[in-house]
Amino acid sequence: MLNVFRSKPKYMTVKRQEPERRPEVPDNLWTRCDHCSQMLYNKELEKQMFVCRCGHHFRLSAYQRLGMIADEDSFVPFAPLYAADPLSFPGYSDKIRKAQELTSLDDAILIGHARIGEIPVILGIIDFSFIGGSMGSVVGEQLTRGFERATAEQLPVVVFSGGGGGARMHEGIFSLMQMAKTAQAVGKHSRSKLLFISVLTHPTMGGVYASFASLGDIILAEPGALIGFAGPRIVEETTRQKLPPGFQTAEFALEHGMIDMIVNRQQMRSTVARLLRYHQRGGRR
Ligand SMILES: [Zn+2]
Repeated sequence: MLNVFRSKPKYMTVKRQEPERRPEVPDNLWTRCDHCSQMLYNKELEKQMFVCRCGHHFRLSAYQRLGMIADEDSFVPFAPLYAADPLSFPGYSDKIRKAQELTSLDDAILIGHARIGEIPVILGIIDFSFIGGSMGSVVGEQLTRGFERATAEQLPVVVFSGGGGGARMHEGIFSLMQMAKTAQAVGKHSRSKLLFISVLTHPTMGGVYASFASLGDIILAEPGALIGFAGPRIVEETTRQKLPPGFQTAEFALEHGMIDMIVNRQQMRSTVARLLRYHQRGGRR
């Protein structure tokens, strides 16, 4: 990019604009924790699976998550699908292209066959960095195909959600219909007595939460994840009521029976593997 400041004389002070969205884990030596403000050495942070000493879970990319959850070299992705722009929404095609460059994904989900603790599964991971992890027609179609394949092949499904954007507004009704579509695919999978483990990561909101993500047979969440339909500010403004402390956090959801377990990232792989093993046909291996 052209550096517009380079030609300025040295005595001129230039107010630099902060980039709009700084990555949570920048590519340098140290990172400041958003939660406790400690400075963390990046290599150490990576070793700790991007969890701060205070317990704050940094957001992960889909590929980082894949590396932490699936058995090595076990992942075989589905054929890619690409979003159309059915409403000719201004700027949408550009947004998609930029998100593809940023995340190296085709759309907001990484999905395919994998093994976790040697057990074959269909594994889906939503990446927040791809337009807020929102569900458009590609995410909905890939998830539906995932559940349909799992039903045909008698496999469990594990999905990591992190869709703060919910349904993707740029595709209007085509996004909204993915809620019903994914929900019915989960239903068919469930009626075949197959296991669906839904893992909610920060933040899982809107149409993602209000469809497949809240339909898991077992619902896990990472500590501190924001979980809900409309955000707390909208709920407060609409209901004109003061919300209780911790409203819509994973801890609040657990206390009120909305989820089954909060699992630290360091224990996530072993926990998911254990749950899969318990629910294998014919008992434990
Ligand atoms: Zn911290």
